[in-house]
Amino acid sequence: MDKYNNLINGKPVPPVSGKYFDNINPADRNDVAGMFPKSGEADINLAVKSAKDAFQIWSEMPPPQRGELIFKVGDLLLVNQERLAKVIVREMGKTMPESMGDIKSSADAAYFMAGEGRRMYGQTTYSALEKRWALTKRVPVGVCGLITAWNAPMAIITWKLFPALICGNTVVLKPSEDTPLTAHLFGELVKEAGIPDGVVNIVYGTGVETGKAIVKNSDISMVSFTGSTNVGKMIASECGRQLKGCSLELGGKNGLIVMNDANLDAASKAVASGAFSTAGQRCASTSRVFVHEDVYDAYLEKLLAETKKMKIGQGANPDTNVCPIINKRQYDSILSYIEGAKKNGATLLYGGNALTGGEFSGGNFIGPTIFSDVDLKSKLAQEEIFGPVLAVFKITDLQDAIEQINAVEYGLTASIFTANVDIAMHALDKLEAGCCYINAPTFGSEPHMPFGGVKKSGIGTREPGTQALDVFSEWKTIYIDYSGVSQNSQFKTK
Ligand code: NAD
Repeated sequence: MDKYNNLINGKPVPPVSGKYFDNINPADRNDVAGMFPKSGEADINLAVKSAKDAFQIWSEMPPPQRGELIFKVGDLLLVNQERLAKVIVREMGKTMPESMGDIKSSADAAYFMAGEGRRMYGQTTYSALEKRWALTKRVPVGVCGLITAWNAPMAIITWKLFPALICGNTVVLKPSEDTPLTAHLFGELVKEAGIPDGVVNIVYGTGVETGKAIVKNSDISMVSFTGSTNVGKMIASECGRQLKGCSLELGGKNGLIVMNDANLDAASKAVASGAFSTAGQRCASTSRVFVHEDVYDAYLEKLLAETKKMKIGQGANPDTNVCPIINKRQYDSILSYIEGAKKNGATLLYGGNALTGGEFSGGNFIGPTIFSDVDLKSKLAQEEIFGPVLAVFKITDLQDAIEQINAVEYGLTASIFTANVDIAMHALDKLEAGCCYINAPTFGSEPHMPFGGVKKSGIGTREPGTQALDVFSEWKTIYIDYSGVSQNSQFKTK
């Protein structure tokens, strides 16, 4: 069994506790993809010291040079795309095309952020005083603590890490305990690209031990977190107590509207893939669909036909569309939502079962599940399930659809299928979501565009795109006076 260690100052460092955990394949719980450190406060202290020591050399390197190194990591991601994707299939469970996409998106993020190193624009403007310039410049925040989820194991890391690095920060990364091997291989590429030791430190372990120790560490200047809303609230509260920055990318309960003039074929494919690919384990998965009463029956027929085509199985199987559930805890949670919905009177239209035996034995498999007649206030309608479970609602008009779609505490993504431009534009105005789509699934974000949610899906930060620079840098405002006298803009001095 391979045993991996933390990456601190460019070297493998065993955990102070001497303890390790198993990295389990969700498609086959007997397959363990390595043992990883159970790190605690002492390990975080070492990683933070390494990141602090590396800060001077990295923050003083001009951003275009930092960009060249990030560009090399992008190249290495593509050269190793298939090897890395196979690891994602094994430790996270998703299919090979989805895993290849995860790596491609990470390489795209590298190339985009590398280019930011040659922009990084500030402002230069006139002062209100003579012979004086006023300007602004981005400066790094310091040591950034990055805590990531497992469902896009490389993309989530890179969408945070590249903007953090281009801004001149050094980092301590704690990947999800469900997908540590992807992070380990990423660490190897960072080293191969020539990013100096100590700039990227990777520490493995659970949220309550390792993650909490990152957030508590007062030498970490800001925390960037992707994960559940409940954990996000705890992190925000500790960061608030310490008055340090935090960026939160949280859960979703994403809805899609199908109007009576919609292309029903496209809308049924969009919902089947949005709800059931990656087994619904995406923050941007479609978990609710709102269908106009005029086309409700016709649409359901098409949606069921599309869903029946989806093949559940091991991610490594080229026919698979619906992968296993990441771990036993999440598997039990999804099944309890399904049982709860049945008890609550929702009508089960499709699926609703765990799949066991044969090719499913030893794995965490739940088939695509569709409910109708769902109480809008029920858990099924309101809470993020993070599994292959879809609730269908009937709507009478756009106003009705918008009220229903907005009636949750989340606001990550939303979509509407319609051929009517007025309806589409009105929906864009009123949908409470950070990312909106017209005639497209609720997922499919691109790394040069900001991604994030409103309401309880985030706190207003956006990580990919140019907007990510705002998360990982601070503005320094500068006045340069060459008048030869002491002057200020508030009052006249004699
Ligand atoms: P999670 O909140 O359980 O864990 C996320 C990360 O936080 C993990 O690394 C975990 O170890 C760590 N963690 C857990 N408890 C912690 C604590 N008390 N202090 C510090 N760190 C802690 O979430 P998950 O199960 O890994 O991921 C699924 C969730 O992530 C879903 O809610 C999903 O919507 C969300 N997500 C959001 C986005 C987005 O961009 N908005 C993207 C992907 C996933």
